[in-house]
Amino acid sequence: MSTTKVLEKLSEEQKLEKESLNLFFSTQTVIKKALDKLGYSNEVFELLKEPIRMLTVRIPVKMDDGSVKVFTGFRSQHNDAVGPTKGGVRFHAEVNEEEVKALSMWMSLKCGIANLPYGGGKGGIICDPREMSFGELERLSRGYVRAISQIVGPTKDIPAPDVYTNSQIMAWMMDEYSRLREFDSPGFITGKPIVLGGSQGRETATARGVTICIEEAVKKKGIVLQGAQIVIQGFGNAGSFLAKFIHDAGAKVIGISDAHGALYNPEGLDIDFLLERRDSFGTVTNLFTNVITNQELLEKECDILVPAAVSNQITAKNAHRIKASIVVEAANGPTTLEATKILDKRGVLLVPDILASAGGVTVSYFEWVQNNQGYYWSEEEVDEKLRKVMVESFETIYQTSQAHQVDMRLAAYMVGIKKPAEASRLRGWV
Ligand code: GLU
Repeated sequence: MSTTKVLEKLSEEQKLEKESLNLFFSTQTVIKKALDKLGYSNEVFELLKEPIRMLTVRIPVKMDDGSVKVFTGFRSQHNDAVGPTKGGVRFHAEVNEEEVKALSMWMSLKCGIANLPYGGGKGGIICDPREMSFGELERLSRGYVRAISQIVGPTKDIPAPDVYTNSQIMAWMMDEYSRLREFDSPGFITGKPIVLGGSQGRETATARGVTICIEEAVKKKGIVLQGAQIVIQGFGNAGSFLAKFIHDAGAKVIGISDAHGALYNPEGLDIDFLLERRDSFGTVTNLFTNVITNQELLEKECDILVPAAVSNQITAKNAHRIKASIVVEAANGPTTLEATKILDKRGVLLVPDILASAGGVTVSYFEWVQNNQGYYWSEEEVDEKLRKVMVESFETIYQTSQAHQVDMRLAAYMVGIKKPAEASRLRGWV
């Protein structure tokens, strides 16, 4: 059943919660509010409320057992007034068109916040990479690039890693694109292995960005980072590196989780041990017996809560029970709009996803710049440049939220949407 049909059958209250769980709808709602606050006309909203381009592709892949399986993939481009579109490609069984559209809109916002010369893009393939062999994944990755090749390219739309895609997948995609075009095209995709033109610091960039946001947020709340208690939901790329960085910075990581469960110890967890034992999908709790649920973990006593897993984790149902005074969203969309309101009313400082997770695309931009100029930077240089972008973005959004008396999410949307709105206006589109 379509979302609209489902919504028609529900009561007003159920509708509100359902709508706020729908990423695409809630993204449109906040974009509308942000544009209104900034004084843009409804025409600007009409342009920015949907991606300008959405391609659905079917990808036949020869499976190891000799059969052919046809996969469905998407590539969404939200707005290219600022520059080429940019954003990751996710491999996940629950990928769907609406989600990819919403995620491409978020990429526009992230690029606007970090002041990058890009619009937002996003891609996805409906598949379960955990069930697929290396060879099948390679054929699927190459097939996807062939299917979308007409609308992507180093000056059109630049893909990158996202949920369950990594540097190896970027390498296959870059190779396929280079073969199609018959020249080496490292700038076609970011998040590549270093030897193929990847950037130092790209793999850890999202976690570095989140760490910087935590450092800035504790200053605002008057919390000392040394010894502060942190709970991290999710132990994938963002969650695991974050656990390491924040532990090294002196904070106490007292909870972590993966898709199967959570570990909690108020005395602090042995992060180095957990990092050593996690598998490539971030699973580690299967080694323990004293496991609690992800939902239980979110409600544990702590100073800082970092949802770094999937969307819709903090909702109107559990927002009252969140104990943390700072919530930093490393995942995309972990808190619904209703829950955002509840947390804001309770005085919780919420660092929204489009700010907290902007480190990844920022270093992707650095990678693309290095590819274009053919001259590569040291890790220190990348980290220093990333820090500057993140600190400035955090401060701008914090000040916007104070000046306009709005929550941090709306403030982030206001900062993020301004650039595509202004660029569209100056090009004479609206
Ligand atoms: N997938 C990441 C994100 O959602 C990175 C995108 C990129 O590096 O282009 O921000």
